[in-house]
Amino acid sequence: MVKVVVLATGGTIAGVGASGTQPGYSSGEMSIEDMIAAVPNIENLAHIQGEQIANVGSQDMSFAIMIRLACRINELLQSEDVSGVVITHGTDTMEETAYFLNLTVKSTKPVVMTGSMRPSTAISADGPLNLYNAVGVAADPDTAKRGVLVVVNDRIHGAHALTKTNTTSVETFLSPINGLVGTVIYGSATYFRAPFRKHTYTSEFSVDGATRFKRVDIFHACADMPADLIDCSISQGARGIVIAGHGNGNMNKACLAAAKSAAAKHIVIVRSSSVASGTVGRNVEVDDDAGQFIVSDELNPVKARILLMLALLKDRSLEEIQELYFTY
Ligand code: GLU
Repeated sequence: MVKVVVLATGGTIAGVGASGTQPGYSSGEMSIEDMIAAVPNIENLAHIQGEQIANVGSQDMSFAIMIRLACRINELLQSEDVSGVVITHGTDTMEETAYFLNLTVKSTKPVVMTGSMRPSTAISADGPLNLYNAVGVAADPDTAKRGVLVVVNDRIHGAHALTKTNTTSVETFLSPINGLVGTVIYGSATYFRAPFRKHTYTSEFSVDGATRFKRVDIFHACADMPADLIDCSISQGARGIVIAGHGNGNMNKACLAAAKSAAAKHIVIVRSSSVASGTVGRNVEVDDDAGQFIVSDELNPVKARILLMLALLKDRSLEEIQELYFTY
C-alpha cells in the first residue's frame, strides 16, 4: 500500500465549537492524530503518517510557515517510500499557500491541499470527507505532474486557478478563469486535464536558503483612492506594489501618476484586478510600456504578490518579470 504523509497547519478543519449548530468556533484546535482518527476507512486508501507543522487559523499563515512547509514537502517527497503529501489548511489563505507551494515544491509526486468550511464539531462537518478525498487523490498515481492541487467539496482545483468566493458556504472554491482539473467522489478521482502553467518540477523558483522576502504591498482600488498610499508604502520599504485595480487593472489618474513615478524609481508595479474573474492585459486602458508597469495576466492580487516576492529573490529585468506572469 502507498504511503501518504498528512501535514497539518490548522484551519477550520481542525476547528472546534461549543455545539453542532453555532456559527462561532476556534480554528486550529484539533491535533493531526485526532483529525485522521475522525475519518472512517482512510487507512484503506493509503498508509497514513501525520505531522503537525503549525496549528493556526490561516489568516495567521506566514511566509515562515510556508517556507517550512515547502522544505518539509521537498524532503518527504525525496523519500522513495512516500507517494504523496496532503496538507490540511484553513480556507481563508489556502490559495496563497497553494500557489506558493506550486512554485517552490520540486517534485512530480502528488501534493494535495484540503480544508473545510465547517468546524469538526458542526452538523455535517465537511472536513472528514474532504480529508478522505484528498488522501485518495494523493494516493492516485494519475495525480503526478499536475502541480499542487486543492481538493474541497468533491472538486479538484489547480493552485494557479482557484480562489475562495464565499465566506461560509461549503461550495466556496472556484477556478473562474479556466475551470476545474477534475472531480473526486469518495476518494476516487476523475481528471479532465492538467493545469496549463509551469509549476513544481518545472519551476525555476526555490526557497532553499530563503529566510525573508522583499516587501510587496497590495492596494485595493476604490473611488478617490488616495495616491499617497503608494508613497507611504515605498517609504515603509516596499520594493513592489500590486494594485488590485478596477476592472482590467485600472486606477484613478492620481494613482496612475504615483505608480508611474514609483516605477521610475525601480519599484515594481503590478496591475492586477479586484474583479473575481478575467485577465489583466497589457496596454489596454493603461499605457504599460510608458508607465513601466507589469500586468498580472490571470493572477489575482494575492497570487500576483507571491509571484513578485519570489521573482525579487534575484535581480531580474522588468521584461523578465513580465514574462514570469505569462509563464507561471
Ligand atoms: N479563518 C479560518 C481559516 O482560514 C476559517 C476558514 C476555514 O478554514 O475555513 O483557518
